[in-house]
Amino acid sequence: MSSRDPMPLAGVFREDVQSMHAYAIQPSAGLIKLDAMENPHRLPASLQAQLGARLGALALNRYPADGINDLRAALAKHARMPEGFDIVLGNGSDELISLIAMACDVPGACILAPLPGFVMYGMSAQLQGLKFVGVPLTADFELDEAAMLGAIAAHRPTIIYIAYPNNPTANLWDDAVIEKIVEAAPGLVVIDEAYQPFASRSYIDRVAKHGHVLLMRTMSKFGLAGVRIGYLIGPKAVVEQVDKVRPPYNISVLNAEAALFALEHADVFDAQARELREQREVLQRALRAMPGVKAWPSDANMILVRVPDAQKAFDGMKSRGVLVKNVSKMHPLLANCLRLTVGTADENTRMLSALEASL
Ligand code: PMP
Repeated sequence: MSSRDPMPLAGVFREDVQSMHAYAIQPSAGLIKLDAMENPHRLPASLQAQLGARLGALALNRYPADGINDLRAALAKHARMPEGFDIVLGNGSDELISLIAMACDVPGACILAPLPGFVMYGMSAQLQGLKFVGVPLTADFELDEAAMLGAIAAHRPTIIYIAYPNNPTANLWDDAVIEKIVEAAPGLVVIDEAYQPFASRSYIDRVAKHGHVLLMRTMSKFGLAGVRIGYLIGPKAVVEQVDKVRPPYNISVLNAEAALFALEHADVFDAQARELREQREVLQRALRAMPGVKAWPSDANMILVRVPDAQKAFDGMKSRGVLVKNVSKMHPLLANCLRLTVGTADENTRMLSALEASL
């Protein structure tokens, strides 16, 4: 091959990859960014300076080593990891989801998750060449117990994902149904607590009752979406298998130090999460009083709403300077739904007036 023409993709790149689209990130310059469940607060100025000094002093000439173990220990403590459990870090929980699919690629393997749910569960199955079974939620976005148990019996999934709470519906499902799913699972169950800072309960105190349940969390919603740290907690022998497929040095020394620093100042982030939970209630009240809008309960830093015409509302809000996520095309149950991230009090006020004017 000597021509400078682009090479033929067929026969080199997988056909399904050729027909895929890369994960789309909405351009947001100049807009109030309420589309990705980020914490709207930056690090306070005094902490920015301290972190800058800490990062500047790092040995960037060395591969990540001890700092990663320090962060693993700090996260294990922060999450109250049970005895006999271990923790593995990912470059965001997105990476952990891919690693789990890779480690569990046994013949006939299958990933099962309720739908609508987080897109990476299905994508990890597709990329690894595994079957994905999506089980529809009820019209009010609750787990369909019979459908879940039926699908588990029929497909014998290797991995089940239960988001706790779910994205994009923002709700926490019934624990009694989750326990039945956990008991019926023939393989791994991953409880995804990405939104834990905003949730009214956690699975952490129950995780040690089972030998096949993993708890996944991220620092993204805590306030470090730009840092990319996810973590997976589970029985040692199980976590060890995922760790074996992890690329060496997957967490940079800069990321690890920034995350350690944030944990040392967890009170700052906890206060921000508290304020966002209060703001969520303010938003809920305003949305429920808005004619034509249905808002569902939320245990996360987002609220799912249904409006008469989601595309019109999305475009109208964008033209008024507010970026949210139009999730209506993601799943038939989400027809005319928008996902609104909870922002600062000022951002929320502007978002509400943009929505009202765009219905
Ligand atoms: N799980 C859920 C349910 C999510 O909504 C997200 C991101 N929005 C993630 C995992 C991934 O988070 P990250 O890769 O930033 O850790």
